[in-house]
Amino acid sequence: MPSKSLWLEEDIPKFETFDGSCDTDVAVIGGGITGLTCAYLLKKSGLRVILLEANRICRETSGHTTAKITSQQRLIYTDLSERWGKEIAHKYATASQNAIEQIKNVIDELAIECDFVPQRAYTFTADTKNISALEEEAALAKSFGIDAGISTEGELPIPMISTMYFENQAAFHPVKYMRALAAAIEGEGSRIYENSRVLDVEDGAVKTDKGTVNASHIIVATHYPFINFPGLYWLKMYQHRSFLLAVKGVSFDNMHLSLDSGGHTFRMSGEYAIIGGADHKTGKEGEIDHYKILAGYIAENFPGAQITHQWSAQDCMSPDGLTYIGQYGKSTPNMYVASGFSKWGMTNSMISARILHDKITGKENEFSDIFSPERPVSKSVKGIGENVLEATAGYARKITKPQVPTCTHLGCKLEWNDDEKSWDCPCHGSRFDENGKVLQGPAVRDLDLTDSN
Ligand SMILES: Cc1cc2nc3c(=O)[nH]c(=O)nc-3n(C[C@H](O)[C@H](O)[C@H](O)COP(=O)(O)OP(=O)(O)OC[C@H]3O[C@@H](n4cnc5c(N)ncnc54)[C@H](O)[C@@H]3O)c2cc1C
Repeated sequence: MPSKSLWLEEDIPKFETFDGSCDTDVAVIGGGITGLTCAYLLKKSGLRVILLEANRICRETSGHTTAKITSQQRLIYTDLSERWGKEIAHKYATASQNAIEQIKNVIDELAIECDFVPQRAYTFTADTKNISALEEEAALAKSFGIDAGISTEGELPIPMISTMYFENQAAFHPVKYMRALAAAIEGEGSRIYENSRVLDVEDGAVKTDKGTVNASHIIVATHYPFINFPGLYWLKMYQHRSFLLAVKGVSFDNMHLSLDSGGHTFRMSGEYAIIGGADHKTGKEGEIDHYKILAGYIAENFPGAQITHQWSAQDCMSPDGLTYIGQYGKSTPNMYVASGFSKWGMTNSMISARILHDKITGKENEFSDIFSPERPVSKSVKGIGENVLEATAGYARKITKPQVPTCTHLGCKLEWNDDEKSWDCPCHGSRFDENGKVLQGPAVRDLDLTDSN
């Protein structure tokens, strides 16, 4: 079965390619949920916004997500309390829970029909070793004002002994939501352009191969930030891929996540159940048939389920548990970033859009300090040691003897991904098709496969 996201069955309007030059208040680079939400809020405040998308809007990570809108994010509050202290964990909880309400407000103000369904979120375990971790997380969430608790009754036909629930969570159809944002952005001096990959940004000039947008403010909402200096995001973040299947013949209430190995995720969307898992670092496990493993898990636990769609995607993982939202680098006062959502981009895109909107319009935002890209390194930082080594080796390879296939971003050696038939970068997650064309950044230039040796 070819890979195709259930969400991308929807029609999405097309936009012209940018050609020429123009001036604007804000240039937003990237047409996923982050760029579109930023552009929508800024346009609503009366600014002229130009959004430049490399391919087509809605079609990258945000079109391949599970689209749970939730402040329940595995054991995030335990993790943040340990790394940064309870005050910061509390702020993250409040910002995330507020974001659910803010997304609902946008849906109401634009009367968007996007299958928004309020529901509970559950995280469950079948492992006695995880019970106390769930209890601790639920207690922390409760102390931060979230309506959370513990139960021993699961709603899925899957073995479990304890489950943590949060009330007042939701899920929606991400493409129906984003498409409505796009329609609201267009007009009154604001525009969206597709097939307009930004190659460089210099002194407020945002450059594609066909023209330049001169902007007072620039938001880099490209998922993985593609500008290497300043910011050094290539040293800070890595990407994780996971797989989703849509199935018919399965029905359950609410949404669920397993804390145990496999980390399976579950939600309903109309007649479809969406079940995911097989999480791993991009560019690794290329030889494993993840779709087959996930299909086996579904057949075992949901006999009679019929698989209708399969797809996979990747997200940027922050090494210290917090998203990067704010000024891109010390030397770029009017350029901003929003990235590192660690698979929780529905709420984090709204948090990002509100913080960046407030920065650009000169308003205070009570949450901006905790997400600052300039924050110090936390006590324990996950996953970047290997990333730094690979990136440094890749950079050295790039400036010495090029070995193909190596990434056009920073020269890391690419790995073949047999699930999606693509070349994937294990350092930063850039992806290329069989012919070397960029599928996903941070790389902005295609591979030259004739250069192979
Ligand atoms: C399998 C999976 C399941 C997930 N499930 C959930 C979930 O249930 N709940 C949740 O909250 N989050 C979830 N997430 C995370 C969430 O989907 C992402 O964090 C979010 O969609 C990222 O949105 P984005 O706008 O930053 O990136 P994207 O949607 O990738 O958008 C970035 C856009 O920038 C464009 N771009 C890149 N480079 C350039 C350039 N140089 N010039 C112009 N444009 C450029 C790209 O083409 C793309 O369209 C999941 C992620 C994955 C991978």
